[in-house]
Amino acid sequence: MNTATRRQFIRRSAALTAGLGVLKAADTNVDLTRLRAGLKGQLIVPGDEAYESAKRVFYWNPRTERHPIAVVRCGAEEDAVRAVAFAREHGLEIAVRSGGHSHLAWGSSDGIVIDLSPLKEITIDPERRLVRAQAGVLGGELARAAGEHGLVPVLGQCPGVGATGVILGGGLGWLSGLFGACCDNLVSARLVNAEAKTVEVNGETDPDLFWALRGAGANFGVTTSFEAQLQTIGPVLGGDLHFAVRDARAVLRGFREILHDAPDGFQATLNLTNGERGLFVSFCHSGPETEAEHLLKQFRSLAPTTKESFSRQTYATLAERAAATNPGSGPAPAFRAIQTVYRERISDDVIEVYVDQLARATPDVVFGLSHYMHGQVCRIAPEATAFPHRQAHSIHLRAAYNWTDPKNNEKRFAWGEEWLRQLRPASNDRLYANYQTYETSAGSPSLFGVNHDRLLALKAKHDPENVFHRNANIAPARV
Ligand SMILES: Cc1cc2nc3c(=O)[nH]c(=O)nc-3n(C[C@H](O)[C@H](O)[C@H](O)COP(=O)(O)OP(=O)(O)OC[C@H]3O[C@@H](n4cnc5c(N)ncnc54)[C@H](O)[C@@H]3O)c2cc1C
Repeated sequence: MNTATRRQFIRRSAALTAGLGVLKAADTNVDLTRLRAGLKGQLIVPGDEAYESAKRVFYWNPRTERHPIAVVRCGAEEDAVRAVAFAREHGLEIAVRSGGHSHLAWGSSDGIVIDLSPLKEITIDPERRLVRAQAGVLGGELARAAGEHGLVPVLGQCPGVGATGVILGGGLGWLSGLFGACCDNLVSARLVNAEAKTVEVNGETDPDLFWALRGAGANFGVTTSFEAQLQTIGPVLGGDLHFAVRDARAVLRGFREILHDAPDGFQATLNLTNGERGLFVSFCHSGPETEAEHLLKQFRSLAPTTKESFSRQTYATLAERAAATNPGSGPAPAFRAIQTVYRERISDDVIEVYVDQLARATPDVVFGLSHYMHGQVCRIAPEATAFPHRQAHSIHLRAAYNWTDPKNNEKRFAWGEEWLRQLRPASNDRLYANYQTYETSAGSPSLFGVNHDRLLALKAKHDPENVFHRNANIAPARV
């Protein structure tokens, strides 16, 4: 925290007085009493025991940290309505949080945090293969619930990510080759809009807004629940193939070749670290056994595997596995950060940068290649939904890292920036909303490509004051 912000924070904390009938935030002179009185859930303010954990999200570090005036832990949809109205009335910044996994900690704010994580209701209609889920449901929780009916949701690859967060930004996962992006499976959403009104949005009530929600959704309001299509697949073959780190170059090259011609039912993520997990390819295959055997044979021909841990399992079991970005089994670090880059190809320079950087990286760093784009997600036109980045053979690069000693702050940020400096220039200035780790220039179409202008017009119509801006923001060019 810089000195000015720290000062502000201390002043504000000191002035918050609960239990006297008045709850005031000094800097803003905001009386929170009225907000607290009507809530079904909880209002958490500086000084409360729960505050330190309530303000914090996953990618928390000295650059992303925020100090909310209040966190509204929603007990019902009305709490989100009340919080939006209150924040607007007092000119407070709003952050909306479901799973708290945004790479830039957008789920926290120096104003009001609307935390939907307590809203966990899931209702499944097995006949119509539909789920209605509240905004606090996580990917793993939804996979488990759907699995009880022999169904699967199309979500991301990490159980702790918010189902709502991943869908609103587009969403790529193990099953995207078969069933498209997560947002392609969205059927409707309930929204608290910028006027603090609740609206049900689907292809009939408001086709334009429904289009926008599928990829740029966080820009248009607080989604309190959504309805999504579920799919049917049999057991999948999933797990990890480990290789020696010294074989990184051969495995990276081979990964590119294999994925280039992979069937729709196959997805793999390559992870590289000098830490305890080494080099491993995590995969999920849904399809004939002979196809799986062929894929395994191809991977084994790249270099000797040092360990193989995979099995035939339900999709729900695979969906609940921990994220590949965890470097190992140690205690949680104080600070986490990540950089990501979108590339149209796994070009030779990517492979060389990875091999070179791996040789010098600290053991906490996990490099990765995720979501090789192929199959159904690429057959849908970029302008069919607001999520545009559907080019076949493109890929998302990432480097996740963490540390605990604040003395290392600047060194670690510099390391991340150097990684970005080497890989970003060939990104064609494109960036996936859910993986935004750096600011794009205001008004650039980096995030939404061909959909940028249509989204600008919809943003001007539905949220002209940019009330919802702690997100992959649709921004007009500055004049
Ligand atoms: C470990 C890890 C693994 C990941 N794996 C994948 C993956 O496999 N595929 C993939 O596509 N992405 C993946 N992501 C990225 C992830 O999809 C995004 O970070 C996503 O936005 C997180 O959603 P959340 O609800 O967890 O996060 P939050 O931080 O709560 O929210 C993220 C953004 O969405 C907005 N938002 C959240 N909930 C709502 C809501 N109810 N209404 C309106 N706006 C809302 C927030 O304001 C914020 O801007 C991963 C991220 C991490 C950290």
